[in-house]
Amino acid sequence: MIIFGTKGVTTTPSTGEFHCPTCNSLQSYGLKRVRNFFTLYFIPLIPLNKIGEYIECKKCRDAYNLSVLDMPVENSVDMEAEYNSGIKKAMIHVLLADGVIDDAEVKTAQDIYNKVTGNNLDATKLREEIDHIQMNNEKLSDLSKLQGCLNDEGKELVIQASYFVAMADGDLHREELALIVKIGKKLGMTDAHINGVLSSLAEE
Ligand SMILES: [Zn+2]
Repeated sequence: MIIFGTKGVTTTPSTGEFHCPTCNSLQSYGLKRVRNFFTLYFIPLIPLNKIGEYIECKKCRDAYNLSVLDMPVENSVDMEAEYNSGIKKAMIHVLLADGVIDDAEVKTAQDIYNKVTGNNLDATKLREEIDHIQMNNEKLSDLSKLQGCLNDEGKELVIQASYFVAMADGDLHREELALIVKIGKKLGMTDAHINGVLSSLAEE
């Protein structure tokens, strides 16, 4: 008896580097192509129709639509630096919102920053940046730059980090809350989205 049938076969016709949204860094990818094959005795012989193509990150193994390759690779490093500085600035502004530079708030901002970015920012350096922002009365406008390159998760992370800094002295002051909402808006979040993140944090 001749046994024939069809079978989906996944191949990797090409590889390269891309900005992985999950890893939030430059990673290697494989272009995965799934194609139906005509099989004879279970051996794929003749390629039939193409079922689909997707991009798989070799590190986190997440799968993406091909359009993920449209994200500029050369900006990936800049974007990471931009994000790190954005989250730091957001936290510093929240820290300054009630007019008092509280030690607990500085420590929280330092811990979160180092944890999120994998960097090693020491307290002295952070204090210098806080002083700089305070003295120059720097505004939040820089955060708008992050709007396009952050996914929802990234934006929520900025809000969460800001919230924890605000709560480090035990209370969420009115000015702090107003500022966190403002940060969310700069990142292009809706009121409902910001409130959703904040209320899930308050429940914890
Ligand atoms: Zn990845």
